[in-house]
Amino acid sequence: MYNVVIIGSGCAGLTAAIYAARASLKPLVLEGHEPGGQLSLTTHVENFPGFPEGILGPELIENMRKQAQKFGTEFKAGSVTEVDISRRPFKITAGKEVYETRSLIVAAGASARLLGLQGEKELIGHGVSTCATCDGYFFRGKPIAVVGGGDSAMEEANFLSRYASRVFLVHRRDEFRASKIMIDRARANEKVEFVTPYLVDEILAPEGHVTGVRLRHAQNNETRQIELHGVFVAIGHDPNSTVFRGKIEMDQNGYLIARHGSLTSVPGVFIAGDVQDHRYRQAVTAAGSGCMAAIDAEKFLEEHKD
Ligand code: NAP
Repeated sequence: MYNVVIIGSGCAGLTAAIYAARASLKPLVLEGHEPGGQLSLTTHVENFPGFPEGILGPELIENMRKQAQKFGTEFKAGSVTEVDISRRPFKITAGKEVYETRSLIVAAGASARLLGLQGEKELIGHGVSTCATCDGYFFRGKPIAVVGGGDSAMEEANFLSRYASRVFLVHRRDEFRASKIMIDRARANEKVEFVTPYLVDEILAPEGHVTGVRLRHAQNNETRQIELHGVFVAIGHDPNSTVFRGKIEMDQNGYLIARHGSLTSVPGVFIAGDVQDHRYRQAVTAAGSGCMAAIDAEKFLEEHKD
Protein backbone atom coordinates (compact mmCIF):
# COMPACT_ATOMS: atom_id res chain seq x y z
CA MET A 1 0.00 0.00 0.00
CA TYR A 2 1.41 3.35 -1.08
CA ASN A 3 0.59 6.75 0.39
CA VAL A 4 0.78 8.31 -3.04
CA VAL A 5 1.21 6.95 -6.53
CA ILE A 6 2.25 9.46 -9.19
CA ILE A 7 1.34 8.66 -12.78
CA GLY A 8 3.90 10.26 -15.08
CA SER A 9 7.59 11.07 -14.87
CA GLY A 10 7.79 14.44 -16.63
CA CYS A 11 8.38 17.76 -15.02
CA ALA A 12 5.08 17.74 -13.11
CA GLY A 13 5.34 14.14 -11.87
CA LEU A 14 8.94 14.49 -10.75
CA THR A 15 8.31 17.75 -8.93
CA ALA A 16 5.35 16.13 -7.17
CA ALA A 17 7.69 13.23 -6.30
CA ILE A 18 10.36 15.57 -4.86
CA TYR A 19 7.79 17.23 -2.61
CA ALA A 20 5.99 14.03 -1.60
CA ALA A 21 9.25 12.20 -0.91
CA ARG A 22 10.58 15.11 1.13
CA ALA A 23 7.37 14.89 3.17
CA SER A 24 8.32 11.23 3.90
CA LEU A 25 5.40 9.84 1.88
CA LYS A 26 7.61 7.38 -0.06
CA PRO A 27 5.87 7.98 -3.39
CA LEU A 28 5.81 5.57 -6.28
CA VAL A 29 6.28 7.07 -9.76
CA LEU A 30 4.88 5.09 -12.68
CA GLU A 31 7.02 6.31 -15.54
CA GLY A 32 4.64 5.87 -18.48
CA HIS A 33 5.33 5.31 -22.17
CA GLU A 34 7.56 8.38 -22.50
CA PRO A 35 9.81 8.44 -19.40
CA GLY A 36 10.89 11.98 -18.63
CA GLY A 37 7.97 13.38 -20.65
CA GLN A 38 8.27 16.12 -23.22
CA LEU A 39 11.41 17.69 -21.72
CA SER A 40 13.31 14.53 -22.54
CA LEU A 41 12.43 15.10 -26.22
CA THR A 42 13.52 18.70 -26.37
CA THR A 43 16.86 20.49 -26.81
CA HIS A 44 17.75 23.74 -25.09
CA VAL A 45 15.46 25.06 -22.39
CA GLU A 46 16.14 28.75 -22.05
CA ASN A 47 13.24 29.82 -19.89
CA PHE A 48 13.44 27.58 -16.82
CA PRO A 49 14.38 29.97 -13.99
CA GLY A 50 17.79 29.44 -12.48
CA PHE A 51 19.69 28.54 -15.64
CA PRO A 52 20.93 31.79 -17.21
CA GLU A 53 22.84 29.87 -19.90
CA GLY A 54 19.92 27.51 -20.52
CA ILE A 55 19.98 23.77 -19.89
CA LEU A 56 19.31 20.74 -22.07
CA GLY A 57 15.84 19.28 -21.52
CA PRO A 58 17.09 15.72 -20.85
CA GLU A 59 19.65 17.04 -18.37
CA LEU A 60 17.04 19.08 -16.52
CA ILE A 61 14.73 16.09 -16.24
CA GLU A 62 17.60 13.81 -15.14
CA ASN A 63 18.44 16.26 -12.38
CA MET A 64 14.83 16.27 -11.21
CA ARG A 65 14.78 12.50 -11.21
CA LYS A 66 17.95 12.31 -9.10
CA GLN A 67 16.49 14.84 -6.69
CA ALA A 68 13.30 12.78 -6.33
CA GLN A 69 15.33 9.60 -5.84
CA LYS A 70 17.52 11.22 -3.22
CA PHE A 71 14.49 11.75 -0.98
CA GLY A 72 13.20 8.20 -1.39
CA THR A 73 10.99 8.08 -4.49
CA GLU A 74 10.44 4.63 -6.00
CA PHE A 75 10.26 4.35 -9.80
CA LYS A 76 8.60 1.68 -11.91
CA ALA A 77 8.54 1.40 -15.69
CA GLY A 78 5.31 0.84 -17.60
CA SER A 79 2.09 2.56 -18.54
CA VAL A 80 -1.15 2.58 -16.61
CA THR A 81 -3.77 0.46 -18.31
CA GLU A 82 -6.63 0.72 -15.82
CA VAL A 83 -7.60 2.65 -12.71
CA ASP A 84 -10.22 1.97 -10.07
CA ILE A 85 -10.75 5.23 -8.20
CA SER A 86 -14.36 4.51 -7.22
CA ARG A 87 -13.26 3.79 -3.63
CA ARG A 88 -10.15 4.09 -1.50
CA PRO A 89 -7.61 2.63 -1.52
CA PHE A 90 -7.38 3.28 -5.26
CA LYS A 91 -6.21 0.46 -7.52
CA ILE A 92 -3.83 1.33 -10.32
CA THR A 93 -3.05 -1.32 -12.93
CA ALA A 94 0.06 -1.12 -15.10
CA GLY A 95 0.32 -4.23 -17.24
CA LYS A 96 0.35 -7.20 -14.85
CA GLU A 97 1.01 -5.12 -11.74
CA VAL A 98 -1.70 -3.68 -9.52
CA TYR A 99 -0.74 -0.97 -7.04
CA GLU A 100 -2.89 0.13 -4.11
CA THR A 101 -2.64 3.69 -2.93
CA ARG A 102 -4.28 6.07 -0.48
CA SER A 103 -3.93 9.00 -2.85
CA LEU A 104 -3.14 9.53 -6.52
CA ILE A 105 -1.43 12.27 -8.50
CA VAL A 106 -2.14 12.21 -12.22
CA ALA A 107 0.69 13.89 -14.14
CA ALA A 108 0.39 11.80 -17.29
CA GLY A 109 1.16 14.70 -19.64
CA ALA A 110 0.19 15.02 -23.26
CA SER A 111 1.32 13.26 -26.46
CA ALA A 112 2.13 14.58 -29.91
CA ARG A 113 -0.79 15.05 -32.30
CA LEU A 114 -0.75 13.75 -35.85
CA LEU A 115 -2.33 15.33 -38.91
CA GLY A 116 -4.70 12.40 -39.38
CA LEU A 117 -3.63 11.71 -42.97
CA GLN A 118 -3.85 8.31 -44.54
CA GLY A 119 -0.70 6.25 -43.96
CA GLU A 120 0.80 8.92 -41.68
CA LYS A 121 1.05 6.68 -38.62
CA GLU A 122 2.60 3.83 -40.58
CA LEU A 123 5.22 6.23 -41.94
CA ILE A 124 6.54 7.11 -38.48
CA GLY A 125 10.14 5.97 -38.61
CA HIS A 126 10.02 6.07 -42.43
CA GLY A 127 10.15 9.81 -42.88
CA VAL A 128 7.37 11.00 -40.57
CA SER A 129 8.39 12.12 -37.08
CA THR A 130 7.01 14.03 -34.11
CA CYS A 131 10.40 14.46 -32.45
CA ALA A 132 13.06 16.61 -34.09
CA THR A 133 15.67 15.92 -31.45
CA CYS A 134 15.18 12.17 -31.78
CA ASP A 135 15.17 11.94 -35.57
CA GLY A 136 16.81 15.06 -37.00
CA TYR A 137 20.14 13.34 -37.45
CA PHE A 138 18.63 10.92 -40.00
CA PHE A 139 17.96 13.78 -42.42
CA ARG A 140 21.50 15.10 -42.88
CA GLY A 141 21.80 16.98 -46.16
CA LYS A 142 18.18 16.32 -47.11
CA PRO A 143 15.16 18.60 -47.51
CA ILE A 144 12.40 18.23 -44.94
CA ALA A 145 9.18 19.92 -43.83
CA VAL A 146 8.00 20.99 -40.41
CA VAL A 147 4.23 21.34 -40.07
CA GLY A 148 2.76 23.77 -37.55
CA GLY A 149 2.78 27.41 -36.51
CA GLY A 150 3.49 27.30 -32.79
CA ASP A 151 6.70 27.57 -30.76
CA SER A 152 7.38 23.86 -31.27
CA ALA A 153 7.31 24.22 -35.06
CA MET A 154 9.67 27.22 -34.95
CA GLU A 155 12.00 25.50 -32.54
CA GLU A 156 12.05 22.31 -34.59
CA ALA A 157 12.60 24.19 -37.85
CA ASN A 158 15.65 25.92 -36.39
CA PHE A 159 16.98 22.78 -34.79
CA LEU A 160 16.51 20.71 -37.95
CA SER A 161 18.27 23.29 -40.09
CA ARG A 162 21.51 22.03 -38.50
CA TYR A 163 21.04 18.76 -40.38
CA ALA A 164 18.66 19.29 -43.27
CA SER A 165 19.63 20.95 -46.55
CA ARG A 166 16.34 22.89 -46.49
CA VAL A 167 13.45 23.20 -44.06
CA PHE A 168 9.98 24.04 -45.38
CA LEU A 169 7.87 25.41 -42.56
CA VAL A 170 4.31 24.59 -43.61
CA HIS A 171 1.50 26.30 -41.73
CA ARG A 172 -2.21 26.53 -42.48
CA ARG A 173 -2.48 30.26 -41.70
CA ASP A 174 -0.44 33.38 -42.38
CA GLU A 175 -0.52 34.22 -38.67
CA PHE A 176 1.43 32.24 -36.14
CA ARG A 177 0.71 31.11 -32.63
CA ALA A 178 4.43 31.09 -31.86
CA SER A 179 6.08 33.85 -29.84
CA LYS A 180 7.75 36.68 -31.73
CA ILE A 181 11.29 35.76 -30.71
CA MET A 182 10.83 32.22 -32.04
CA ILE A 183 9.32 33.43 -35.34
CA ASP A 184 12.11 35.98 -35.78
CA ARG A 185 14.74 33.30 -35.27
CA ALA A 186 13.16 31.01 -37.85
CA ARG A 187 12.73 33.88 -40.32
CA ALA A 188 16.38 34.84 -39.89
CA ASN A 189 17.45 31.29 -40.67
CA GLU A 190 18.51 31.07 -44.32
CA LYS A 191 17.67 27.39 -44.55
CA VAL A 192 14.07 27.83 -43.39
CA GLU A 193 11.44 28.67 -45.99
CA PHE A 194 7.95 29.63 -44.82
CA VAL A 195 5.17 28.01 -46.85
CA THR A 196 1.82 29.55 -45.83
CA PRO A 197 -1.14 29.29 -45.80
CA TYR A 198 -0.97 25.67 -46.84
CA LEU A 199 -2.50 22.43 -45.58
CA VAL A 200 -0.84 19.08 -46.05
CA ASP A 201 -3.18 17.07 -48.25
CA GLU A 202 -1.02 14.02 -48.66
CA ILE A 203 2.30 12.62 -47.57
CA LEU A 204 3.81 11.00 -50.63
CA ALA A 205 5.55 7.70 -50.01
CA PRO A 206 5.08 5.44 -53.03
CA GLU A 207 7.59 2.88 -51.74
CA GLY A 208 7.00 3.16 -48.02
CA HIS A 209 9.45 6.05 -47.48
CA VAL A 210 8.54 9.72 -47.61
CA THR A 211 9.45 11.34 -50.92
CA GLY A 212 7.34 14.47 -50.78
CA VAL A 213 4.18 16.25 -49.72
CA ARG A 214 1.19 17.53 -51.63
CA LEU A 215 0.02 20.84 -50.22
CA ARG A 216 -3.20 22.75 -50.73
CA HIS A 217 -3.52 26.52 -50.44
CA ALA A 218 -5.92 27.21 -47.56
CA GLN A 219 -7.77 29.95 -49.46
CA ASN A 220 -7.73 29.23 -53.18
CA ASN A 221 -7.26 25.44 -53.05
CA GLU A 222 -4.33 25.58 -55.47
CA THR A 223 -2.10 22.55 -54.93
CA ARG A 224 1.64 22.25 -55.01
CA GLN A 225 4.05 19.43 -54.48
CA ILE A 226 7.39 19.57 -52.66
CA GLU A 227 9.97 16.84 -52.89
CA LEU A 228 11.52 16.04 -49.52
CA HIS A 229 12.60 13.19 -47.27
CA GLY A 230 11.04 13.97 -43.93
CA VAL A 231 7.88 15.46 -42.42
CA PHE A 232 8.08 16.65 -38.82
CA VAL A 233 4.60 17.10 -37.39
CA ALA A 234 4.64 19.82 -34.71
CA ILE A 235 0.95 20.67 -34.28
CA GLY A 236 0.51 20.32 -30.56
CA HIS A 237 -0.45 17.57 -28.16
CA ASP A 238 -3.38 15.62 -26.73
CA PRO A 239 -3.72 14.87 -23.02
CA ASN A 240 -3.00 11.29 -21.89
CA SER A 241 -6.27 10.93 -20.05
CA THR A 242 -8.03 8.01 -21.76
CA VAL A 243 -7.96 5.71 -18.70
CA PHE A 244 -9.76 8.38 -16.69
CA ARG A 245 -12.67 8.81 -19.08
CA GLY A 246 -15.91 8.76 -17.06
CA LYS A 247 -13.92 8.70 -13.82
CA ILE A 248 -12.52 12.20 -13.44
CA GLU A 249 -14.20 15.31 -14.78
CA MET A 250 -12.60 16.37 -18.08
CA ASP A 251 -13.30 18.89 -20.84
CA GLN A 252 -14.31 18.03 -24.41
CA ASN A 253 -10.67 17.71 -25.46
CA GLY A 254 -9.86 15.27 -22.67
CA TYR A 255 -8.03 17.70 -20.41
CA LEU A 256 -8.69 16.86 -16.75
CA ILE A 257 -10.44 19.62 -14.85
CA ALA A 258 -9.06 20.92 -11.59
CA ARG A 259 -11.71 22.16 -9.18
CA HIS A 260 -9.44 24.10 -6.89
CA GLY A 261 -5.67 23.99 -7.05
CA SER A 262 -4.93 20.39 -8.03
CA LEU A 263 -8.14 18.91 -6.59
CA THR A 264 -10.40 16.91 -8.91
CA SER A 265 -13.97 15.67 -8.77
CA VAL A 266 -12.63 12.61 -6.88
CA PRO A 267 -11.35 13.19 -3.32
CA GLY A 268 -7.80 11.89 -3.02
CA VAL A 269 -7.03 12.27 -6.74
CA PHE A 270 -4.90 15.26 -7.70
CA ILE A 271 -3.77 16.48 -11.10
CA ALA A 272 -0.72 18.30 -12.39
CA GLY A 273 1.06 19.26 -15.59
CA ASP A 274 -0.08 19.11 -19.20
CA VAL A 275 -2.80 16.50 -18.64
CA GLN A 276 -4.81 19.36 -17.06
CA ASP A 277 -3.28 22.40 -18.76
CA HIS A 278 -3.86 23.39 -22.37
CA ARG A 279 -3.13 27.04 -21.75
CA TYR A 280 0.36 27.48 -20.27
CA ARG A 281 2.07 24.12 -20.93
CA GLN A 282 5.47 25.27 -19.74
CA ALA A 283 8.06 23.27 -17.85
CA VAL A 284 7.94 25.75 -15.01
CA THR A 285 4.13 25.77 -14.74
CA ALA A 286 4.10 21.95 -14.88
CA ALA A 287 6.66 21.88 -12.06
CA GLY A 288 4.56 24.39 -10.08
CA SER A 289 1.40 22.34 -10.46
CA GLY A 290 3.31 19.18 -9.46
CA CYS A 291 4.31 20.93 -6.26
CA MET A 292 0.68 21.94 -5.64
CA ALA A 293 -0.54 18.37 -6.19
CA ALA A 294 1.98 16.95 -3.71
CA ILE A 295 1.06 19.53 -1.07
CA ASP A 296 -2.65 18.82 -1.64
CA ALA A 297 -2.05 15.06 -1.42
CA GLU A 298 -0.09 15.50 1.81
CA LYS A 299 -2.93 17.57 3.33
CA PHE A 300 -5.48 15.00 2.18
CA LEU A 301 -3.53 12.14 3.76
CA GLU A 302 -3.17 14.12 6.98
CA GLU A 303 -6.95 14.69 7.08
CA HIS A 304 -7.74 11.03 6.25
CA LYS A 305 -5.32 9.27 8.53
CA ASP A 306 -7.69 6.31 9.02
P1 NAP B 1 0.55 25.05 -30.19
O1 NAP B 1 1.05 26.32 -29.61
O2 NAP B 1 -0.78 24.55 -29.79
O3 NAP B 1 0.59 25.21 -31.78
C1 NAP B 1 0.11 24.19 -32.61
C2 NAP B 1 0.21 24.67 -34.04
O4 NAP B 1 -0.16 23.60 -34.90
C3 NAP B 1 -0.71 25.84 -34.35
O5 NAP B 1 -0.04 26.76 -35.15
C4 NAP B 1 -1.86 25.18 -35.09
O6 NAP B 1 -2.41 26.00 -36.09
C5 NAP B 1 -1.21 24.01 -35.75
N1 NAP B 1 -2.15 22.89 -35.94
C6 NAP B 1 -2.91 22.26 -35.00
N2 NAP B 1 -3.62 21.26 -35.54
C7 NAP B 1 -3.31 21.25 -36.85
C8 NAP B 1 -3.73 20.44 -37.94
N3 NAP B 1 -4.59 19.43 -37.78
N4 NAP B 1 -3.21 20.73 -39.16
C9 NAP B 1 -2.32 21.74 -39.33
N5 NAP B 1 -1.88 22.53 -38.34
C10 NAP B 1 -2.38 22.29 -37.12
O7 NAP B 1 1.57 23.84 -29.89
P2 NAP B 1 3.15 23.83 -29.70
O8 NAP B 1 3.83 24.63 -30.71
O9 NAP B 1 3.47 22.40 -29.55
O10 NAP B 1 3.37 24.55 -28.30
C11 NAP B 1 2.74 24.07 -27.13
C12 NAP B 1 3.17 24.89 -25.91
O11 NAP B 1 4.55 24.66 -25.62
C13 NAP B 1 3.01 26.40 -26.13
O12 NAP B 1 2.57 26.96 -24.93
C14 NAP B 1 4.41 26.86 -26.44
O13 NAP B 1 4.64 28.20 -26.08
C15 NAP B 1 5.25 25.90 -25.61
N6 NAP B 1 6.60 25.73 -26.21
C16 NAP B 1 7.57 26.61 -25.84
C17 NAP B 1 8.84 26.52 -26.38
C18 NAP B 1 9.89 27.49 -25.96
O14 NAP B 1 9.58 28.50 -25.38
N7 NAP B 1 11.16 27.19 -26.18
C19 NAP B 1 9.12 25.54 -27.33
C20 NAP B 1 8.11 24.65 -27.72
C21 NAP B 1 6.84 24.77 -27.16
P3 NAP B 1 -3.39 27.21 -35.75
O15 NAP B 1 -2.53 28.27 -35.14
O16 NAP B 1 -3.95 27.59 -37.07
O17 NAP B 1 -4.43 26.66 -34.80
